[in-house]
Amino acid sequence: MPAILLIVLYLGLVCAPLGLAMWQDQPALSLRDALAAGAGMAGLAILQVEFLLSGRFRVISGRIGMDVTMRLHQLLARAASVLILLHPFLYHGPQGLSRGRGPGPGPGANAALDYSWASLWPGLAAWLLLGAVMVMALGRDGLFRHERWRLMHGTMALAMAGLGVLHATRAGRFSSDPVLAGYWWAMLGVATLSLCWVYAVKPMMKRARPWRVAAVTPLAERTWELRLSPEGHSGLRYKPGHFAWISVGHSALSLDENPFSIASSPSDGPDLRFVIKELGDFTNRLGAVKPGTPAYVDAPFGSLTLDGHGDAAGVALIAGGVGIAPMLSHLRALDAAGDPRPRLLIHANRLASQMVCDDELQAMTQHGPLRVVHVLSEPSDGWTGETGFVTPDLLRRHLDTDALKTWVFVLCGPPPMLESVEPALLAMGVPHRNILLEQFSYD
Ligand SMILES: Cc1cc2nc3c(=O)[nH]c(=O)nc-3n(C[C@H](O)[C@H](O)[C@H](O)COP(=O)(O)OP(=O)(O)OC[C@H]3O[C@@H](n4cnc5c(N)ncnc54)[C@H](O)[C@@H]3O)c2cc1C
Repeated sequence: MPAILLIVLYLGLVCAPLGLAMWQDQPALSLRDALAAGAGMAGLAILQVEFLLSGRFRVISGRIGMDVTMRLHQLLARAASVLILLHPFLYHGPQGLSRGRGPGPGPGANAALDYSWASLWPGLAAWLLLGAVMVMALGRDGLFRHERWRLMHGTMALAMAGLGVLHATRAGRFSSDPVLAGYWWAMLGVATLSLCWVYAVKPMMKRARPWRVAAVTPLAERTWELRLSPEGHSGLRYKPGHFAWISVGHSALSLDENPFSIASSPSDGPDLRFVIKELGDFTNRLGAVKPGTPAYVDAPFGSLTLDGHGDAAGVALIAGGVGIAPMLSHLRALDAAGDPRPRLLIHANRLASQMVCDDELQAMTQHGPLRVVHVLSEPSDGWTGETGFVTPDLLRRHLDTDALKTWVFVLCGPPPMLESVEPALLAMGVPHRNILLEQFSYD
């Protein structure tokens, strides 16, 4: 589905409740009451569609990129939170929340609203739950293991959406209308199904196609190659640039899974190779994982593939640290296909001991149209290559004007590097559509 259609679909889903409310034959509202009702409905609509932006739906993340999907998810969650937090305060006067029962009288007050406790408590509970979800989302890295946080985040958000729908259909003057009420319940159904898809259907699908650890090999300082072999099936159909959610040594139903770029090329055969750097719980234990350990793979995901760039005159791959993983997949595939297009790999690391697969890369430079530029920010004595960071000057030294206009640029690395290299490329005249980018963090 083209990205523009996704945007139209998104706007349609989020604006539908407001459209349905405007279509109703209701008495005119004061501006404040209209804003309050609109904020509540828009906030709830955004919240319900958030479940589809969880990053696990390829039709979305495959089009706009996983990192963009997750950033949108976070940004829109913030927008929904502001609208929902403001919603009760926008109503005309405080009498709305303090009145115990029955509709209120008088012009300007919320005469048609139901302020009974039965209609208010779900809203109040959703509102408090929202505060808890926000605190947990902001402090997630320090408070919980990532996997536990993910499950709690999803279930609490679903409870919040359910309570919000209950409140809207009981208390809202617009949402008690059967058509709008039907919309809220249908969207709650979609949200519930999307969680079931991630936590029940996907694990079942993974269990039907198990994998096994074939080898774990040290590649560089605190960096490993993990090789997985399919067990009783033909493996995965993927493209260079894709990433996978993998779980090693757990059941298919376990929440323990992490995203890693696939470093092998489909031309290598059915085994999948990953380049993994130690960072936390799972990655720090990788070196001790034994061959034969069961594994599960949910893939392919991501938008770092060269789809739609077959006409690019060359390929520039700019990686920081372990961001080399998807670049290896691209280079291995281009090499295996005998692709004649010139290519340049710029790989930035802190130390020479962090460079991976350099022998293989140097071999590719001998028999193919590849140039490799290593950049070290902390070079040892005797280093003759590039030093410092990937700056516009460095890019200009290795890419001529023609390349800047006609090549495709694939970027992967730590956020600070991407934040400086992408604008530099744009400023140097690289068209936006020729830059593919993925960051290994969603923050
Ligand atoms: C699209 C993508 C591709 C990636 N590819 C690679 C790769 O090829 N090689 C590589 O070394 N690293 C890659 N990463 C990073 C890798 O996923 C994390 O380093 C890894 O999940 C850390 O897990 P841990 O249990 O060791 O650390 P933890 O202690 O659990 O977490 C450390 C940090 O990693 C992040 N993280 C942990 N679990 C997850 C998760 N399930 N989903 C998203 N983020 C998580 C969190 O921000 C957390 O703060 C990639 C990340 C993304 C998003």
